[in-house]
Amino acid sequence: MSEKVTFLDKTFVKYIPSSEIDAAIAKVAAEINEDYKNDDPILLITLNGAIVFAVDLMKYLDISCRISCVKVSSYCGTESTGKINSLIGLNEDVRGKRILILEDIVDTGATYGHLYQMLMEAGAKDIRMATMTMKPDAYKGTLPVHYVGLRIPNKFVVGRGLDYDGYGRNLNDIYQVVDS
Ligand code: 5GP
Repeated sequence: MSEKVTFLDKTFVKYIPSSEIDAAIAKVAAEINEDYKNDDPILLITLNGAIVFAVDLMKYLDISCRISCVKVSSYCGTESTGKINSLIGLNEDVRGKRILILEDIVDTGATYGHLYQMLMEAGAKDIRMATMTMKPDAYKGTLPVHYVGLRIPNKFVVGRGLDYDGYGRNLNDIYQVVDS
């Protein structure tokens, strides 16, 4: 894949090669295999972005688990609006269950906080977060982020499921926006 890509009005440069992302995901999967070996968690995939991470992660998981999906949106272009829209709700009985939320990226933590609240209200026994990437400098939450693949600076990225207005999800490497 090329060193630079352009989507709409923005250019992105290659930032994290796919081999590094795969290694980070394998490491997260090993931790999850260990921590959930005696459980039967539900992996809650946050659409659309976490689809790619979820597929990559599940290749390495050997625990007994099931999957479910929710769809939320907080981003408009390259900025978090801070307001979470629930587009597809929880379609699963989570009472008494261990839930592992899968995210492509944890930024401010608003989405995580929203999902946590929703799952608590629905009676989940235990809620954890596994994310492919995280921006620690942008995180405003108080909840622990249990499994983090890659910690990245507070700059907009695309690739591996992460998009810019719908584009770039299919890139195998992660690309960082070039300031204009
Ligand atoms: P939060 O609610 O933690 O602020 O943001 C989480 C959501 O914002 C992610 O699921 C993702 O959709 C979007 N997001 C945050 N930072 C980025 C980024 O750098 N690139 C892309 N493509 N999406 C991001």
